[in-house]
Amino acid sequence: MARINDNFLKLKAGYLFPEIGRRVAAYAEANPDANLIRCGIGDVTEALPNVVREAMHKAVDELGCRDTFRGYGPEQGYDFLRNAIAENAFAGLDISANDIFVSDGSKCDTGNILDIFGPGNTIAITDPVYPVYVDTNVMIGNTGDADEAGRYEGLVYLPCTAENNFVPAIPEEKVDIVYLCYPNNPTGAAATREQLQAWVDYALKNDAIILYDAAYESFIQDPEVPKSIYEIEGAKQCALEFRSFSKNGGFTGVRCGYIVIPDTVFGTTESDEKISIKQLWSRRTSTKFNGASYPVQRGAEAIFSEAGKAEVAALVEHYMANAKLLREACTELGLKVFGGENAPYVWVACPEGLTSWDMFDKMLEEANVVITPGSGFGAAGEGYFRISAFNSRENVEEVCTRLKALL
Ligand code: PLP
Repeated sequence: MARINDNFLKLKAGYLFPEIGRRVAAYAEANPDANLIRCGIGDVTEALPNVVREAMHKAVDELGCRDTFRGYGPEQGYDFLRNAIAENAFAGLDISANDIFVSDGSKCDTGNILDIFGPGNTIAITDPVYPVYVDTNVMIGNTGDADEAGRYEGLVYLPCTAENNFVPAIPEEKVDIVYLCYPNNPTGAAATREQLQAWVDYALKNDAIILYDAAYESFIQDPEVPKSIYEIEGAKQCALEFRSFSKNGGFTGVRCGYIVIPDTVFGTTESDEKISIKQLWSRRTSTKFNGASYPVQRGAEAIFSEAGKAEVAALVEHYMANAKLLREACTELGLKVFGGENAPYVWVACPEGLTSWDMFDKMLEEANVVITPGSGFGAAGEGYFRISAFNSRENVEEVCTRLKALL
């Protein structure tokens, strides 16, 4: 019989969102008339920008004509998109098109990146955290088993609490790889320039690599908050940045993202030979990926047109106004509220005496609102819940009304 990868068996009950899905489906089946509002999974709700649709239509038409047909594209992404990204998203930051690897989204990228790192690295993750970073490390064999609280042996957990404004303190020990995500999912926290500089300085001192997930950068409202890790001195020597069109451009179903890997980030072999991370990722990409689809890349390119920027700004404004309403409603109820100012997630302390899953069940059963239990993002998320601002205004107003009636 074929041997399986035993590491998969170490995974706790399953990825958070399937578990939420299971509970919601069971409730909906038992209560078919319930008018459920979903603020759980961070999926966008508003329509794709017009310029994106037009660009994709045009690209599909090109594929329908023999003279303009395109087959396999470059694995790393078309130059038109890589150039648009470098010129717009990283203007003035000395990032070139050649540093950009286009993909079908950041979930795959943040998981796949582990292909190029060997065993034996000390890996640090924040707690709470986007669960993909943890589970992909478990799958590849970088951890031991999980304890009762769901913490895996072998990972270094960096607690993110109200006391440290949900940005972890620099660890005493040396780690080799650290995942940072700002603006943060799930806490909605943003990291300041000083905090990111401290992390870059730590990485340079310890020869560590920062895997910086900036999927929510376009939601930053405060001009003082860095949008890219490359705004920080020294980051080009130690950081990779993950970006996605999912949340700013409404691409959760369309699928497109990218990784930025400067030439100056290195790892070592077992015999201490320095190897370029970009070179490895490029090799990995050429072997395992055939590029994001052409119409999708044309759609992503359109986001950087003047009309595209205006449509994205309107989408961001819509979701951030939702976040403001949710923040205000929870604050009015006397709850402790975090996030929602530079990110589309509001992170709320549960009312006294309720665990995260208690609050999830209460909201589902008594208010018919689906939220995300904080403990699903890690042990330090216990006692919190996350409300996603990705919704219609009407639904968000209704959620605020139901919250007020419930608590
Ligand atoms: N990174 C973070 C922190 C996320 O929250 C998400 C999606 O929720 C992703 C990455 C995945 O993005 P994509 O849709 O590009 O796969």
